[in-house]
Amino acid sequence: DTIGANLDRAVAAWPDREALVDVPSGRRWTYAEFAADVDQLAYALLATGVAKDDRVGIWAINCPEWVLVQYATARIGAIMVNINPAYRTHEVEYVLKQAGISLLVASLSHKTSDYRAMVDQVRGKCPELREVVYIGDPSWEALLRRGTPDLYEDLWTRKSELSCDDPINIQYTSGTTGFPKGATLSHHNILNNGYFVGELISYTEQDRVCIPVPFYHCFGMVMANLAITSHGGCMVIPAPSFDPKASLEAVQQERCTSLYGVPTMFIAELNLPDFSTYDLSSLRTGIMAGSPCPVEVMKRVVAEMHMAEVSICYGMTETSPVSLQTRRDDDLEHRTGTVGRVLPHIEVKVVDPATGVTQPRGAAGELCTRGYSVMLGYWNEPEKTAEAVDPGRWMHTGDLAMMRDDGYVEIVGRIKDLIIRGGENIYPREIEEFLYAHPKIADVQVVGIPHERYGEEVLACVITRDQADPLTLEDLRAFCEGRLAHYKIPSRLQLLDSFPMTVSGKVRKIELREKYAVPGD
Ligand code: ATP
Ligand code: MG
Repeated sequence: DTIGANLDRAVAAWPDREALVDVPSGRRWTYAEFAADVDQLAYALLATGVAKDDRVGIWAINCPEWVLVQYATARIGAIMVNINPAYRTHEVEYVLKQAGISLLVASLSHKTSDYRAMVDQVRGKCPELREVVYIGDPSWEALLRRGTPDLYEDLWTRKSELSCDDPINIQYTSGTTGFPKGATLSHHNILNNGYFVGELISYTEQDRVCIPVPFYHCFGMVMANLAITSHGGCMVIPAPSFDPKASLEAVQQERCTSLYGVPTMFIAELNLPDFSTYDLSSLRTGIMAGSPCPVEVMKRVVAEMHMAEVSICYGMTETSPVSLQTRRDDDLEHRTGTVGRVLPHIEVKVVDPATGVTQPRGAAGELCTRGYSVMLGYWNEPEKTAEAVDPGRWMHTGDLAMMRDDGYVEIVGRIKDLIIRGGENIYPREIEEFLYAHPKIADVQVVGIPHERYGEEVLACVITRDQADPLTLEDLRAFCEGRLAHYKIPSRLQLLDSFPMTVSGKVRKIELREKYAVPGD
């Protein structure tokens, strides 16, 4: 199916059920109302001259218009380009040019981001950019007014020209390990993935899902929006950007059955001083993904947030995104020790990164995935595509993993984060999990920095619980002594107030490595 055809099916099946709720503004849409607004925007895009495969950029915080743009562009076969709302002028200029965006839909402003002012600064340098429309501004209303129902014929003709394998979306990766890459994805890629993710958490038209994760990222637009609408559920927007209080208030007010987040978001919610005053009894499930979840956090999510069925997903933007997922009745050990097992119609294998030979179960190697979910390619970057997707259509994920005998997969870490000290492989995550138990440590990231003799050495970046009671390297080493192999014990310590993060909630270890490398050492 195309995304538009899938929406038609949802409207036919559940016309009067709620599709979308925006908690901040109180606006609500049933499926019939939502599809009518999608069509009006689709007419407006047709009247504006947006042709099939034209790139329409969306540079916005979470709001209902984001979702309308997602569906309206898919309806007419335009390629929506998701732009990270945290971007500044330099980055947005890069994306506008790289993707050749002709129409940009943007938020006006949010917190410290004045989107209109930033667009004004770069607009003159982007010759392909013909029009910019701002959400919540007269320009948005003016755009919608162009969409008159006499364009129905055009819309119908356009629909009949679409194919499931057409590119429909350019999603940029989080930029955790470097500059973000634009993955080009088809209807087939992302709609199927959303559908199966929803199947594995048993979504039905009874489900109401609280979405604090950004729509710009695959977690929001596929694992939330497409998974929910393909099962008739309701998308609930708690706030324009992540706010732990607003998330829990939305769950309580809208009686949500499911809550999403990366581990750091769940940690922030659990740590709210008034956490215990929220009524979260409507929750049954949710998705935690994007980075590894500490065991203690998972235990609290299950016990204190009522999310007994919470699902762990592993994926990447380039594979639509999800490849591995835990199942409803998995035990706690599988939910924390693994990222689940493979999704239907997808293959995974673990190979020796040097030789490409498939590893036996239980041995670590690079995780590779194949199936309908592998992207069409990086937008306009055939060399990078060839590095990532091999001729057999296997996506090389860059993640080290291990497959257990029961088919569940453990993620060991990113190949780029692996520390090689004097020939010994060190996995940062193992040391991080160990250091979490230190009473003075609130959060910790372990990275490798260059060392003349050993190649690399181990740096621990630590946020302490109490600034008045700092941690010393001697404390840290004494804590590890006798419990970790000597080569894994951090030889350097850096105390920090916060870590550099991506908008999708991941720590940018690359910045820590660059910033705290010791020159001339
Ligand atoms: P970039 O590719 O730009 O450096 P990124 O890889 O973080 O950024 P995404 O596509 O958003 O961009 O994230 C995919 C990566 O996230 C995976 O390759 C993996 O390293 C990590 N990841 C995803 N899910 C999990 C999970 N459940 N547990 C551990 N790591 C995960
Ligand atoms: Mg990546």
